[in-house]
Amino acid sequence: MQFNELGLSSKVLQAVEASGYTTPTPIQAQSIPHALAGRDILGIAQTGTGKTAAFTLPMLCRLEQGRARARMPRTLILEPTRELAAQVEEAFVKYGTNHKLNVALLIGGVSFGDQEAKIMRGADVLIATPGRLLDFFERGKLLLNGIEILVIDEADRMLDMGFIPDIEKICKLVPFTRQTLFFSATMPPEITRLTEAFLHNPVRVEVARAASTATGITQGLVATHGHAAKRDTLRKLIRGQENLKNAIIFCNRKRDVALLHKSLAKHGFSVGALHGDMDQLARMASLEAFKTGDVDLIVCSDVAARGLDIPDVSHVFNFDVPTHSEDYVHRIGRTGRAGRSGVALTLVTHEDTKYVDQIEKLIARKIDWIGPALNELGADETPHRARPHREGQDSERRGERGGRTARAGRGEGRPPRSAPETPAPARKPRGARYGEAQPASADATAAEAPRAVRHERRPRAEHDANSPRDGRRDRKPRHDDHDDAPVIGMGDHVPSFLLRPVRVKPAAETLED
Ligand code: AMP
Repeated sequence: MQFNELGLSSKVLQAVEASGYTTPTPIQAQSIPHALAGRDILGIAQTGTGKTAAFTLPMLCRLEQGRARARMPRTLILEPTRELAAQVEEAFVKYGTNHKLNVALLIGGVSFGDQEAKIMRGADVLIATPGRLLDFFERGKLLLNGIEILVIDEADRMLDMGFIPDIEKICKLVPFTRQTLFFSATMPPEITRLTEAFLHNPVRVEVARAASTATGITQGLVATHGHAAKRDTLRKLIRGQENLKNAIIFCNRKRDVALLHKSLAKHGFSVGALHGDMDQLARMASLEAFKTGDVDLIVCSDVAARGLDIPDVSHVFNFDVPTHSEDYVHRIGRTGRAGRSGVALTLVTHEDTKYVDQIEKLIARKIDWIGPALNELGADETPHRARPHREGQDSERRGERGGRTARAGRGEGRPPRSAPETPAPARKPRGARYGEAQPASADATAAEAPRAVRHERRPRAEHDANSPRDGRRDRKPRHDDHDDAPVIGMGDHVPSFLLRPVRVKPAAETLED
């Protein structure tokens, strides 16, 4: 099957050709003809399958007819995170190069003014996170009754983040006659219910199971003790990798992202960080530094990194074993993309064994230990300079660096928060390799000691535009949405009703009541 057999317009075909793609991926081949025919689509597919183009290309064809009017976008794409929204915007820039389209992005952490101006001009495509979209709508700055196509992307992630009530509300605000293109990597019951309520006779296209892990990825477990020993294990592991070009390091909690980032930077690694408490400009800058190779390592939380399309990542390290086994599949899927090989190594402490068991059950295979297994680990032994040993894996093939560029942050970010810290990427000096940038500083060890790390208390709510509004959640949010510093009472947050002046009623009135 070739792209020109799918029914796409010549403008779109030219842009696809210019992107260098010759053959549609399975999700594209199976969904584009139906989407062009106006059918609703239920696509069960992960990132990395080409699903962004599967909805972007038919949308572009549809947008060739007609014009957008002020405040009335013609198409709407809902994304769970700002990064994914920005990534979809890039896809429109790439595939819409022959179209004169007004694409607006409505995401948290960016000033309302710039976004409003774009919507006022008339948006052909509006890409939004649900919370910010509803804020705009409720302020009367946006009308949703001109929507011709609604795309709901990463629906299962929306569920994890508590966005389903917002999605339901938005589905009721857009015209009944719109076309809906719906994508989810998995189909838990809540998502099935949503599709039954809001899709009309959809074509179901399923291309990959969420539980499947890419075959080009060499996986390994690394036994370690916890706390500072764990950071030491990670450093040795990174330095011991022969073919490490760059790596994403996952932590389960935002505060550990900040802590590990600081520790690695002190030890001379070229490292950035990405988590949900960083303001938008800092997130964009970190991601950009990693994509362009200014930094070699990026420490991430799951929410921040989910679905990011960085084509050429040689290694993934799980500093923490993910407590939700599907996250393991998503994390390691950041490497070994587009047919390249990759290495995914997971640090395991004695507390993590049950999570490892769950992961192995999900992926239906055992993951090898690299170096001593957990039960062989000495009292204070910190492995490893080992690298994974797998047949046929001795020489890692290194692909070319992807030429993608992420846009720098738009508009104004919010002022940085106090904790977790908003880290600036520790850039590597020109020509230096990650582990060799500087010798470990004398105070690095001190900085590593847990007692040297201060955690300021902060409000419990994420206050992120990516978070569900009004505290509405239909499912227990994931670890990444919380810091685990205990919050006493209402924490630092004083609800506005407590700040209102109190009116005391006259006694007679009270008695009448
Ligand atoms: P996605 O699943 O949308 O995140 O896409 C994953 C990656 O595949 C992106 O880098 C796309 O640019 C790339 N891609 C999309 N469609 C094709 C195609 N037909 N052939 C090759 N690469 C593609």
